Amino acid sequence: MVSRVIPVDPFDLVIFGGTGDLARRKILPGLFRRFCAGQMPEEARIIGAARSDMDDAAYRKLIADAIKEFGNGFTFEAATLNAFLERIGYVAVDATGTDGWAELAGRMRDGTVRAFYFSVGPSLFGDLAERLHTHGLATDQSRIVVEKPFGRDLQSARALNATLAEHFREDQIYRIDHYLGKETVQNLMAVRFGNVLFEPLWNAQYVDHIQITVAETVGVGGRGGYYDKSGAMRDMVQNHLMQLLCLIAMEPPSKFEPDEVRDEKLKVIRALEPIEPHHIVRGQYSAGGDQPSYRDHAENPRSNTESFIALRAHISNWRWAGTPFYLRTGKRLKARTSEIAVVFKDAPHSIFGVDAGRHRNVLAIRLQPNEGMTLDVTIKEPGPGGMRLIDVPLDMTFADALGDEAEEVTDAYERLIMDVIRGNQTLFMRGDEVEAAWAWTDPLIEGWKQRGDVPKPYDPGTAGPDDSMMLMHRDGRRWRELKT
Ligand code: NAP
Repeated sequence: MVSRVIPVDPFDLVIFGGTGDLARRKILPGLFRRFCAGQMPEEARIIGAARSDMDDAAYRKLIADAIKEFGNGFTFEAATLNAFLERIGYVAVDATGTDGWAELAGRMRDGTVRAFYFSVGPSLFGDLAERLHTHGLATDQSRIVVEKPFGRDLQSARALNATLAEHFREDQIYRIDHYLGKETVQNLMAVRFGNVLFEPLWNAQYVDHIQITVAETVGVGGRGGYYDKSGAMRDMVQNHLMQLLCLIAMEPPSKFEPDEVRDEKLKVIRALEPIEPHHIVRGQYSAGGDQPSYRDHAENPRSNTESFIALRAHISNWRWAGTPFYLRTGKRLKARTSEIAVVFKDAPHSIFGVDAGRHRNVLAIRLQPNEGMTLDVTIKEPGPGGMRLIDVPLDMTFADALGDEAEEVTDAYERLIMDVIRGNQTLFMRGDEVEAAWAWTDPLIEGWKQRGDVPKPYDPGTAGPDDSMMLMHRDGRRWRELKT
């Protein structure tokens, strides 16, 4: 199949935190893949910026090592890597001081797209925005990319939005949520809005419930200090899971344009009902095997921060009245998997007798690993012996039909960075969306604090606390199995 990669305009991309974990693991390997795909023009420049003192050559070596280490088996010629490295430079800059800013300003070119990626701790976002302005680096057309976490509650998110707004317009601010950059998330929108088949069924009349799962096998490890102040609700639900919920539940936007899509997502968040305490289960993993417990890594050995959460949410609008949305996420679980499952209702009448009720159509959208989409349909089990029904998954990923192009799925980060260069904000969160999400989660977090809520312990390698199963069982439903 002929490649449809369209090169972006020439750009200067400055990565603040260019020596950090995210830059080395995701951002620069992703940019390299875009370079290999022919999407990066000859004139593109990438500048790493952090406080460490090093020259261009030392930084290029750091990035070459990172690409080899985190390339996920991506193969390339040494000459190709060298050609990519020629576009890379480094400037030592202190986000909180004056060092390095004049040199950085001197490296910027006029007339090219300028993007500044804030891949540093969130306490530095405001400092960077301000200094980009005072040192004359921010032009009218510059863009900033802001990493998560975007605030830790409504008040801090509002304050951060206000600080950024002092220096940049909303259409210059790209709040990144890499879940939105996943191929399958976009395929979900194509399937929903590009076909007549699904939209008539996409409502409370035909959908029994929806499950959104983001399960990890790893624990908090070295991130214990940060995570303990955050927990699963702030770290995962407020952003990633709520964004996925919005895309599943939103009304069809009139166009696939940034504000049309984001307006619809915002309406979903605003229509979320407050959750009753008995519809939330918080968990914390215990020690298991030779692995430490959550509390062994937390700063506070008596920490009550949750490493697992499961909840039942309701959206009060015509489309979804009465359809529960079950969300769960956790660490040190049985399998690493992220999936959205739309579980349709039973057929209204069984002409096949007892067998029929056990079969349901399920649209499963798998985000990781092995991105893809399947639709379980019920068919007759082949062969003689009467009418027996079985469910078979209809693969809607169509990797075979699209060949190599589909197999080489673009990583979310590289796709989103190219969107920044193109000036397309569709897959980025708008300031009001982020605030609305905090406005929904804040009272839940505050409620736990006031009640002195203690998370339920769960064994590592399981699907979380038993209460999470009960949350479903009480409703006559069950979670889909966690499997990789
Ligand atoms: P990290 O490994 O700690 O890297 C932080 C970077 O910031 C380093 O390059 C550091 O270099 C630089 N830095 C620190 N203080 C600075 C200052 N005053 N001026 C200029 N540069 C400074 O952190 P990370 O894991 O890459 O995370 C970066 C951001 O991405 C955070 O907001 C994080 O929440 C978010 N994030 C990370 C991941 C991930 O997988 N790592 C995933 C999602 C979101 P120097 O010490 O040399 O200055």
